[in-house]
Amino acid sequence: MRHEALIFASGNRNKYVEMQELLAPTGMRILFGGDVKSMDVEETGSTYAGNALLKARAWAHATGLPAVADDSGVEVRALNGAPGIFSARVAATDALRNEWLLEQLARKSAETRGPADRAARYVAALALCFPEEGEIIICEGICRGSILNAPRGAGGFGYDPLFLPDGQDKSFGELDRSVKQRISHRAIASFRLVNMLLRRGMLQ
Ligand code: IMP
Repeated sequence: MRHEALIFASGNRNKYVEMQELLAPTGMRILFGGDVKSMDVEETGSTYAGNALLKARAWAHATGLPAVADDSGVEVRALNGAPGIFSARVAATDALRNEWLLEQLARKSAETRGPADRAARYVAALALCFPEEGEIIICEGICRGSILNAPRGAGGFGYDPLFLPDGQDKSFGELDRSVKQRISHRAIASFRLVNMLLRRGMLQ
């Protein structure tokens, strides 16, 4: 790639910290969007990929740098895939979003008079947009798991204290960061993105 720096198209520092590490194999400097510019891109897409693309395009055009954006969410089976692309919008803070999710599941159990199906998955779409060529690359990643009855652990962010990844006995809030960085939706999408860049000879 001719560019030495890539901008992470977001003001979400938690996602940036993960992405900076996940994109280290590109050898590029990853700048945090929030440090460079204040931008509020309206997420009007109906898919993760559509929203990631809206954010990556807007940031690439505003900064003249290649921009990578993440759009992600959690999908819960008993809630027919909700909150999905609306994961950040159901309440104002992480604590309130977790409360909202537990409340929705409790409501569902009451409605069906049985335990709600707590199977869930995290989904992430990454979009990388180059300002000049307008070229874009989109990759997705999924991490399957289930929603706990109460938050566990203080690590990670967002719904992590409630999310028990399949094959683990600890939530993403309790697990060592390095485990999340191997198996998360964002990690899988990032591995795919780096592989795609390598295959296309776009990395030095
Ligand atoms: P957006 O992609 O900025 O629209 O928001 C994604 C929302 O999904 C975040 O605010 C979190 O609530 C949730 N989310 C996405 N990825 C993760 C994760 O890795 N851990 C916990 N919550 C996440």
